[in-house]
Amino acid sequence: MSKPKINQEICIGCGTCESVCPQVFKVENGKAEVIAEDCKDCNCEEIASSCPVNAISIEE
Ligand code: SF4
Repeated sequence: MSKPKINQEICIGCGTCESVCPQVFKVENGKAEVIAEDCKDCNCEEIASSCPVNAISIEE
């Protein structure tokens, strides 16, 4: 089980994470938030590596 965490200081609100996994990520007011710890459908680490500013980290 991995828990993604977003550094809101550097998130630019591009929406990539939300478009890949709307169960876990939600962009509101230009910043992404984590709304669930994990989902069973996708790989949080992959989403983290697709963030253009590396704002997503994973806590094991
Ligand atoms: S992919 Fe990264 S920069 Fe884009 S909304 Fe998600 S956390 Fe923010």
